Amino acid sequence: MIQIRNLVKKYGNHTAVDDISLDIEPGQVYGFLGPNGAGKSTTMNIITGYLAATSGEIKINGYDIYKEPEKAKTCIGYLPEIPPLYLDMTVYEYLKFVAELKGFEKAKIDNEVKRVMELTNITDVSERIINNLSKGYRQRVGFAQAIVSSPPIVILDEPTVGLDPNQIRETRDLIKSLGDSHTVILSSHILSEISETCSHVFIINKGKIIANDTIDNLSNYFNSHQVLEITAKGDKLRCKEIVEAIENVNSVSVDLGDEDGTVKITVDAVDNADVREDVSLALSAEKISIFEMKEDTKSLEDVFLQLTGKEEQDDSNI
Ligand code: ADP
Repeated sequence: MIQIRNLVKKYGNHTAVDDISLDIEPGQVYGFLGPNGAGKSTTMNIITGYLAATSGEIKINGYDIYKEPEKAKTCIGYLPEIPPLYLDMTVYEYLKFVAELKGFEKAKIDNEVKRVMELTNITDVSERIINNLSKGYRQRVGFAQAIVSSPPIVILDEPTVGLDPNQIRETRDLIKSLGDSHTVILSSHILSEISETCSHVFIINKGKIIANDTIDNLSNYFNSHQVLEITAKGDKLRCKEIVEAIENVNSVSVDLGDEDGTVKITVDAVDNADVREDVSLALSAEKISIFEMKEDTKSLEDVFLQLTGKEEQDDSNI
């Protein structure tokens, strides 16, 4: 549905989007997740034809965004981070205007405006001037303009920024319901938003895609290697030596424990290995008592921090 190949965007010397390639298939809700400044808005602005790329190729439903921009753009409804609203129009007038701009058949415009107002739950404010609406209602008007004429793809840039918790809940529900009939791409720097509303995630950091997978696979992948936290009574160096010598142990770190004479051992196993038994047998064979052993499972939040943090470290090594 959308193919992006080797997309690059430079602002002067600064590379905001750094060789991104990805595919969007129909019928899913995709999330662009990344810290502020990662390049999410820039990528979305390029996909929607609002911004020119420095290099790369984008095809929307087979149409090249540069060679056939009109055809490509009719496939997309876009809600930028700041909704493009005309504040002195009423909600109805504005949506009618959007429908006209999108070339909607005149006789059908009234029905279409009513349809999108109902879907986004704004029928009760249709005669209100947009300037007098709350931020939550304005955001819904922004959603409504994006789905006028039922584009197959709807792109939403940070759609819940600045909303209160109730409005955030409503907006997330709206995104999920849009996903039933549209391919949706949304960006966010909030992990819970992406994991709650999306089936597939692209994690973007410093202009690069650093993860591209389903939400489920991503958390399973990072939980596929065991991490053990052990409190034991023994010598720090000796504990490290013993555990390091165990088969399937990837890495070991040992710190002094909270109680006198105890140590905290963190064991990273190789993928899909369970080293609990070997570790406990090896330590007790050396008369080192284990006070506690627990398996640390990584949340998606840890995954995100690990991935984006890793990039920071990589940079500092350059
Ligand atoms: P995100 O949406 O992930 O917060 P952006 O796409 O807005 O990130 O920005 C990516 C990078 O590009 C940031 O470092 C930002 O400062 C820079 N940037 C964005 N727009 C411009 C611009 N018009 N001129 C110069 N730099 C820009």
